[in-house]
Amino acid sequence: MDTKAEYLIKETDFPELLKALLKGGTVDKVIGAEAKVSRKTGEEDRFSISPVLWEKPEDIEKFPLSNLIAYGFSRTDSASKFLHEKANGAKDGKIALVARPCDTRALIELNKLRQVNLDNLFIIALEDRGITLNVSRELRSEKELDTSKIVKEKITDDGLLFMLEDGKTKQVDIDVADNCARCVRKDPVIADLSVTDIGIPIDSEDVILKVHTNKGADLLEASGVKTQDLSDDIKSSHEEKMDEIIKTAEERRAKDLAEWEALSQEEKIEQLKKCTMCGMCIRACPVCYCVDCILQKKRKDKAIDNVTYQLTRIAHDADRCVECGSCANNCPMDLPLSLIFQSLNEKFEEKFKYKAGESTEDLPFRSAKAIKEMELEKA
Ligand code: SF4
Ligand code: SF4
Ligand code: SF4
Repeated sequence: MDTKAEYLIKETDFPELLKALLKGGTVDKVIGAEAKVSRKTGEEDRFSISPVLWEKPEDIEKFPLSNLIAYGFSRTDSASKFLHEKANGAKDGKIALVARPCDTRALIELNKLRQVNLDNLFIIALEDRGITLNVSRELRSEKELDTSKIVKEKITDDGLLFMLEDGKTKQVDIDVADNCARCVRKDPVIADLSVTDIGIPIDSEDVILKVHTNKGADLLEASGVKTQDLSDDIKSSHEEKMDEIIKTAEERRAKDLAEWEALSQEEKIEQLKKCTMCGMCIRACPVCYCVDCILQKKRKDKAIDNVTYQLTRIAHDADRCVECGSCANNCPMDLPLSLIFQSLNEKFEEKFKYKAGESTEDLPFRSAKAIKEMELEKA
C-alpha cells in the first residue's frame, strides 16, 4: 500500500502511539495485547499473547511487540476476530487495533458482510514473515536455554532468534507456520500506520514505522514519539529482505500446491476423513461469523458425517478465505486446511478474478447477490 513517510522509532515508544489514540479521542477503545500471567507462579508467559481491550491511556503500560510479531495471538485469537466478537466490529464506536496483514484482509471481507465498520477503525498493521507455533512446547528440548532470560525475539532466515538479558543471542530451529511460509501477501492492504522489524537487527532498539494516511500522520505528531529518518541503508536492507522473503514464499507455495494437486480426489478425501468435527477451525476463522453455526448444530444432533462437515465448511468460507492459516494452525488432526484454501483461491482468482481481502470495492463472487440485497434493504 502507499506510504507517505517512513521513520525509525524506539520499540519502547510503541505504547505511546496507542495511548495517544485514547488521549486525543481518536478512538474509544484500543485492542491491545498482553502476555498471559501464570496463576501458579505469577510469571508472564512471553510465548502466549492474548488480545485485550484498553479504554483509558492508564490501562496501557507496555506492549509485547516483538512477541506479537513472532508468535501472533495464541490459539484461536486474532485481532480481526476479537474486533468482531468482543468490540461489535466497531459498529458502535471507534476502535484501534494492531493487525497482521491477514487481519487487514479479514477486516475487508467482514466489512463487505456488514460485520465490521472500516470507517470506525484506526489500524496499526504489522508487516511480517509469519508466526511461529507452539514455541513454548518446542523449546522444552532446548535444555540449555533459560526462557526466563529471554527479553526479545525475532524470526530470521535461520529460525527463531532470541535476545537474552545479558545481551547474548540464541538461535533455535523453529520456522514459521506452513501457511505463513506459503503466504505471499505479507503487506497490509489497509492501515493508517504500519510497523515492522524486517531488515532491523535484533540488537537494535528501533523498529520501522510507516505512515500511510493523514490520520496516521496526525496521530504520530500528537503522540510526541521521537522519530528518526530512515537511512538509505536500512531502507534498502528492509526492502531487499522483504523481496527475498516473498520470493521464498512464492517458491514454497508453488511447490506445496503442485504436490497437493498431484494427489487423486480419493487421496484428498482420505485426508478429510481424519476430521473429528471438533470445531476448532470454525472457532479460529476470522471470517466465519454466523452466531448459530449450522455445522455445530448438525454435529451435536449427530446428523452429519465428518467429510460432509468439513466439505460444507470449506464451501461456506470458500469465497472469503483470506489465507490467515488460523484453521490449519489450530487443527489437532493436522488436516491440510491451509493447502486446500490456498489451492481453491488460486483457482478462484483465475476463474473469477477475485481475491478475498484484496479490495474494498469488489464483492465475493458467491455472496455478491446477497450483499447487494443487503445494500438495497439498507437504502
Ligand atoms: S498468513 Fe501471511 S499475513 Fe498472516 S501472519 Fe502469516 S505471513 Fe503474516
Ligand atoms: S478458512 Fe482458514 S485460512 Fe481461510 S480465513 Fe478462515 S481460518 Fe483463515
Ligand atoms: S479443527 Fe481439524 S479436526 Fe477439528 S473440525 Fe476442523 S478440520 Fe476437523
